[in-house]
Amino acid sequence: MSSNAPEQDTLHRFTFENTPIRGNTIQLHQSFMIALQNQAYPDFLRIALGELMAAGMLLSATLKMHGALILQIQGKGPLKLLVVECSRQAETGALTLRATAKFSENLQAASLLQMIGDGHFVITLDPKDGGAGYQGIVPLEGNSVSEMLENYMRRSEQIETSIWLACDGRQAAGMLLQKLPGQHETDTDAWNRINMLAKTVQNEELLQLPAEHLLHRLFHEEDVRLYDGQSVQFLCSCSRDNVSNMLRMLGQEEIKSIIEERGEVEVHCDFCNRNYRFDRIDSEQLFFTDITMPAPPGRH
Ligand SMILES: [Zn+2]
Repeated sequence: MSSNAPEQDTLHRFTFENTPIRGNTIQLHQSFMIALQNQAYPDFLRIALGELMAAGMLLSATLKMHGALILQIQGKGPLKLLVVECSRQAETGALTLRATAKFSENLQAASLLQMIGDGHFVITLDPKDGGAGYQGIVPLEGNSVSEMLENYMRRSEQIETSIWLACDGRQAAGMLLQKLPGQHETDTDAWNRINMLAKTVQNEELLQLPAEHLLHRLFHEEDVRLYDGQSVQFLCSCSRDNVSNMLRMLGQEEIKSIIEERGEVEVHCDFCNRNYRFDRIDSEQLFFTDITMPAPPGRH
């Protein structure tokens, strides 16, 4: 079944007129499937990653920057790491995502907190437009990705945020509401009222309904303005050039010793499962540049 409804893989922004409340919705279908197509993850892990992907897109839409927003859930349990990277490409403004997970072989379906164990939620901003980077780390609290994220936002950003996420293993979706701080409110009940309405949302509605229908279903008595959607696609930013730079940073001696031991250097991208191989000649070329060092004084 591959319907290509225009709503799929689309992010929508909306605002509630005359209030400091704004929101986004996201539906990920193709981008979700492609992001995980080379990964052999059990269903419950696909679902956790799908929710984190939807959350990442929703949060990145609240930021104005070009660059990457990276969400990581790190733990000491059998599920070691969930990573989602959502980017707004500097050249095109296109929204892209990629995701990966690390886990031990004895991972079994359980609540997210049980699988992760003692852990942290890490948010990293990596702007590509010259702005300052940022990393926030908080202990994991909450039993779901949405609870963890709401707690994070309350603790570190001090912005009232509500998030609903859904994933059925084949597609992921979500909705975010945020109350912008420091704005004069004439309608002081709006945040509570709109949250009460939003709480009635069902997972199937998040996954299936076009944004316009979803907002009408939830908020038809409110004055909502829906903006044009933006499409989202899978993109892995890894490249042979990036890998080459990383190998150069390891240093010539290190690379030489790997070549001597194994005959080649192999670098694997955890996001897209691509392998980059450098044989003896490739790896020598890494350190071959046409910059000639000046000869030491007094010698020719
Ligand atoms: Zn890659």
